[in-house]
Formats: sequence, structure tokens, C-alpha cells
Amino acid sequence: MERADVIVIGGGIIGVCVAYFLAERGINAILLERDEICSGASYGNAGLVVPSHSVPLSTPGVIEKGLKWLLNPESPLYIRFRLDFELMSWLWRFWRFCTEEHVKHSLSILVPMQQESLRLFEQFAASGLEFGLQRKGTMTVFNTQKTFEEGVQEAELLREYGIESQVLFGEKVREKEPLLKESVVGGIYFPGDAHLDPAQFVLALAKEVEQKGVEVLTQTEVIELQVRENIVESVVTTRGQFKADTIVLAAGAWSSNLVRNLGIKIPIQPAKGYSITFYEPNLCPSIPLMLSEVRVAVTPLNGRLRFGGTLELAGLDLSINQRRVEAIRRGATQYLPQIEAKREEVWRGLRPCTPDSLPIIGRPRKFDNLVIASGHGILGVSLGPVTGKLVAQLVCGEPLDFDIQPLSPDRFQ
Ligand SMILES: Cc1cc2nc3c(=O)[nH]c(=O)nc-3n(C[C@H](O)[C@H](O)[C@H](O)COP(=O)(O)OP(=O)(O)OC[C@H]3O[C@@H](n4cnc5c(N)ncnc54)[C@H](O)[C@@H]3O)c2cc1C
Repeated sequence: MERADVIVIGGGIIGVCVAYFLAERGINAILLERDEICSGASYGNAGLVVPSHSVPLSTPGVIEKGLKWLLNPESPLYIRFRLDFELMSWLWRFWRFCTEEHVKHSLSILVPMQQESLRLFEQFAASGLEFGLQRKGTMTVFNTQKTFEEGVQEAELLREYGIESQVLFGEKVREKEPLLKESVVGGIYFPGDAHLDPAQFVLALAKEVEQKGVEVLTQTEVIELQVRENIVESVVTTRGQFKADTIVLAAGAWSSNLVRNLGIKIPIQPAKGYSITFYEPNLCPSIPLMLSEVRVAVTPLNGRLRFGGTLELAGLDLSINQRRVEAIRRGATQYLPQIEAKREEVWRGLRPCTPDSLPIIGRPRKFDNLVIASGHGILGVSLGPVTGKLVAQLVCGEPLDFDIQPLSPDRFQ
């Protein structure tokens, strides 16, 4: 049986960032990944680091909008209703969080955390790690006056939390991004946002982690956590058993399954999203765009262009619904000309979503040596480095950069 100070479960952006900050502190760690590094949600996502998108999914009014969308099979939101107690209870909790109060609570937590992540990404880039970090901002663009006005209101709220923005009417929006169609009525430019190549970041950081002495074991699936009283005693995997002083669970959308038999309930629903990446596109916007009404993110990625979108609550199902992929493509052409490319790649991933849109970071009360770092939903890239640093601080008993009480795994009990 192998032993380490810390075992990290999951080789996505969260697990790899945790391993990095542990290794930086001289901790002897093993990272266990059932597939390859960056084979989950961290691979083909939009790569946006967006303090401007700190408003939670659970907002007042989202239910009415969502109900309308549910009737349309090509809408940005889809729920596969089934007799599943965990889904029903998640939806119930989500509905309870759709309040102004919760929006403000989330903003006060997520904006500073994303800003700290951005600072850490800049440090990684300055240290020579290559992952295409660009600080060009992002622009949310609107095809209807009504959603534009709603966007302007949200930008005003964000300003109270330190997020700068510029509202661009009519032609001004095309001066900023000339590829946008005449139908686009306005845009809001957020200069503080950034973008990067998420897979390049995770893979480069994983190499760095190995060089710092972490044992990275791929094709090693965790089957079970074995416990004795309030301690996780060992981690049973397809490649033997492991023991450690601390276990960090960072298995994204699969995290809840691994702690269910420990009596820990973390309400994480997998929310499937798709992306289409165009290689050597004939046209490419110069900055990332959020196409507001169709909820599609457009990210230029050094010779490639990625369109990402849809949120499908259909369980741990990785099948590709071609109709939804086509809806992303068609949605994009309402704002931009048709893009031609040499080659394209269709991808899907499962976002680990909590009902309050806040991540889960901390130790569950029941176990002294277990730390959960999951549930990052639509913001796992943005929150990756800050999560890694917080978990390392927690494990090492250092003062924490942020109060993680509101992110506690026990907040749902
Ligand atoms: C279309 C789309 C667009 C997105 N765009 C953005 C964006 O622009 N900005 C942003 O911040 N976020 C974005 N996200 C969200 C982001 O991708 C996720 O929040 C983030 O990748 C979650 O990281 P993770 O490490 O928790 O999970 P994952 O990357 O899914 O990693 C979990 C890992 O755990 C492994 N694992 C699971 N079970 C086991 C087991 N039993 N044993 C061992 N290993 C196991 C998996 O194989 C996987 O590699 C987007 C998501 C999607 C789908």
C-alpha cells in the first residue's frame, strides 16, 4: 500500500491546481486520475476568466425564463425530468436561492475570488508557463433592446462590486468588434476579464506538478473511500490501495458519488455543455464574446475559435445531442457571419453545479482528514488557482486568503 501526506482525487483544473500549491509547500502528494489529465470538463470549455460573470445562475426571474426554454428542444437550458430524488431536491434548493439577497451574497464572495485567480494566472504566465493568457476583456453582446437593458442593469450592479464596464450602443459595438452583424443592438465591454487555453493550462501545470515531485497516476480510478470513525483510512483504486494524512476530493461532477457511502450529501448536479472548436477559421473575433440571448461564449484561442454553450441537466450522461450542437452553431450566426474552418472538434463536458452556484471548498464536519474542492459549476477555470491555493493553505494549517465558511460542504445539510 502506497502512502503520501496528501492524496488528490481528480486530474481536472481543480485537482491539478491543488496539487501545484501543495507541492509548492513541499507536501508529498499523489494525484489520482481515472482517465488522462484534463479529460473532464476542464478540456474543451470556453477558457474565460470572468469576474464579470459572478452573478449566480440562481437569480430572480430565471425560473420564468427557464420554463419558457424548457419547451424548446434547442434552447440553452434543458432538464431531463426523471424520478430522481437528488435532481428534484437540487431543483427545489436552486429555486430557493433565486433571490436578490443571494445574488449579492454570491457577488461578495465570487468577485474577489476570481480577481485573486486572475492574479495567480498572471503569476503563472510570468513564471514562463505557456497557456495563452490574454487580458483583452470580454464583451457581452445583445440582439434585443430588452436583454440589452437587463444587461446594463446587471453591469450597474457589478460596478458596486468593483467590476468596470463600458456600455456600447449601436455602431460603437461594431467599432469594438467589426465582425458583429448589424442586428446586434449593443454590447457591454468588461475590460477586467481574461481568457486562456484551458487544456494547455492544465496540462502544462500538471507537468510542473510532476517536476515538483508529485506522483501523478493516470488510469487509476478511485472505487471507494474506506473510513474508520471520523477518518478516511484508505483510498481503494483500480490500481491498489493508498493511504494519506489528508484526502482531497476534486473529482468534478463525479464527486458526490464518491462520498455518498460516507453519509456526506453534496448536491452537485452534472450540467452538460458543448463546444465546437474551429481550427484555422476564415474569420475570428479579436476578443471573446458572450452572445447574450443564445447563451453562447465565443473564444479566440490562438489559431482556433471556440463556441461553447448549453446547460443540460441530464445526469452523468456524456452522449452528444447533435441537435443541441447545431443550435449553438445556428445561435452564433445570429450575431456573427458563418465561419468556415479547415477542421472542427465537437466536445462535451459536465459542469459540477451546486444549487447556490457557489463552489464547495472545505472539510465536512464528519471527517477530520477529508477536504472537498468541487462544485465549481460554470466557473471552474476562473476559480481554479484560488481554489488550489485555499486548499493548500487549509491542509497546511496556514491562515486562509478568504473566509471559506460560506463554501462549507456542510451548508446543505
Ligand atoms: C461548455 C462549457 C464551457 C465552460 N466555460 C467555462 C469558462 O469559460 N470559464 C470557467 O471558469 N469555467 C467554464 N466551464 C466550467 C469548467 O469547465 C468546470 O467548472 C471545470 O472544468 C471543473 O473542473 P474540475 O477539475 O472540478 O472537474 P473536471 O475537469 O471534470 O475534472 C474531474 C476529474 O476527476 C476525474 N475523476 C472522476 N471520478 C474519478 C474517480 N473515481 N477516480 C479518479 N478520478 C476521477 C475525472 O476523470 C476528471 O478528469 C465550462 C464548462 C463547459 C461544459
